[in-house]
Amino acid sequence: MSMNLLPNEDTIAAIATAQGEGGIAVIRMSGPQAPDIINKLLHNGTGIDSNKMDSHHLYHGFIKNPDTGKAVDEVLCVLMRAPNSYTGENIAEIHSHGGYLVPKKILELLFKHGARPADPGEFSLRAFLNGKIDLAQAEAVSDVINAQTEEGLKQAEMQLEGVLSEKINTYKDIMLDLLAEIESQVDFPEEDIDPLVKKDIVSRTEGLISEIGKLLATYEEGRILKYGVMTTILGKPNVGKSSLLNSLLMRERAIVSKHPGTTRDFIEESIDIRGIPLKLIDTAGIRAATDHVEKAGIELAKKKASEGELLIAVIDGSAELDQDDIEVLSEIKDKNAVLVINKSDLGLNVSDKELAKYIQSDRLARTSAKKNTGIDELKDIILDSLINRENHSKEGEIILTELRHKSALETSAESLKTFLKTFQIGESPEFSALDLRVALNSLGEITGEVTTEDVLGRIFSKFCVGK
Ligand code: GDP
Repeated sequence: MSMNLLPNEDTIAAIATAQGEGGIAVIRMSGPQAPDIINKLLHNGTGIDSNKMDSHHLYHGFIKNPDTGKAVDEVLCVLMRAPNSYTGENIAEIHSHGGYLVPKKILELLFKHGARPADPGEFSLRAFLNGKIDLAQAEAVSDVINAQTEEGLKQAEMQLEGVLSEKINTYKDIMLDLLAEIESQVDFPEEDIDPLVKKDIVSRTEGLISEIGKLLATYEEGRILKYGVMTTILGKPNVGKSSLLNSLLMRERAIVSKHPGTTRDFIEESIDIRGIPLKLIDTAGIRAATDHVEKAGIELAKKKASEGELLIAVIDGSAELDQDDIEVLSEIKDKNAVLVINKSDLGLNVSDKELAKYIQSDRLARTSAKKNTGIDELKDIILDSLINRENHSKEGEIILTELRHKSALETSAESLKTFLKTFQIGESPEFSALDLRVALNSLGEITGEVTTEDVLGRIFSKFCVGK
């Protein structure tokens, strides 16, 4: 995707709301010509002079096709004049009736009178290019739209507000100070650096490396918060997998049946475990099957299990372990797994000692899907199996959710370490300053001061049209 990185002369337009039936639709236009185009199309009896429209005020009127003189729709229209708009350009938004046809007809009129179709994410790209938001904030826009849990949304909103950018900027300030000090030495190459100054530079650099390390450690949580965790539920038929799924979901979704082997198809469902979306794949029961359809299901279950990031195995705790259970348990051995001993309401007939061969004792949950007991404990154990508690973010703390940010921070930390090494062995200041600059530039990639068309293309092409 090629990007126009220069100030934009052209005016872009797109339908910003989701396509389909709906009360209203919003058609959005950004660029220098937006007010003129509105002037040609918006009427309320006599016509509305957009030059006289107040910025950020809603005006009632009709969009008319100038060629036919006929009204297309009754609308509300708002002008947000440059630079006080999302993109920093003149923006016009038309609120029309929803549905497929009306917004499309209005959009076509905008195109006919001087606008061109917006590329995916082009409004946000313009906001970035015009300095309204930085790159990390622009990325957060799509995270807000795609957030799957409250926790994910909270993080995206924080990133959008600029909390991550602020943190990165404080790192940058420290690096700039260090750089200034190192570069001031360049003019006095014969003089040795004052040992106290040297010690201070070393400790500040070490402090920064450790800070970056802490932020990097949050990516583990950020990634699963954003993309979810592929989770497979395993267990022979009738142990209560579907019932358990229902208890976790707290609504009826999976089919519960008394006949073994009826949960044949995969049921993919996303469930919020303490803010983390688990993408649950409920599989056909694993057991020595004779029915060939079931056999295929079991093969698929095994394959999915090997792909899963998290396995939840279920056994019926009221019965003794049989060969089918052993097979399930072998499946989870040495994997990231949680074992659910279900039907605890019927009394337990499985010993922990037997289970210790297959799974750590802190990954065991005793539940009754029927009585809805042990479900909270199960959720805690699931969370523990995914996130190291030490790294678990505290309320209101920003975490890394973007691989791009993680890679840039890693490069930055590596360069800082190299800087530290060369600086400590007394390399020339010019030389060690180079690594400091690399470290600084890597951080600039996150917020977007250092960027390329290619990077921008990759980021914004993932956005929807109209955003
Ligand atoms: P699946 O084949 O593993 O998905 O098992 P189901 O969820 O379909 O449950 C099989 C049977 O066990 C159903 O009759 C459920 O009502 C019953 N069941 C599930 N969980 C429990 C439980 O915790 N206690 C008791 N007593 N019965 C349960």
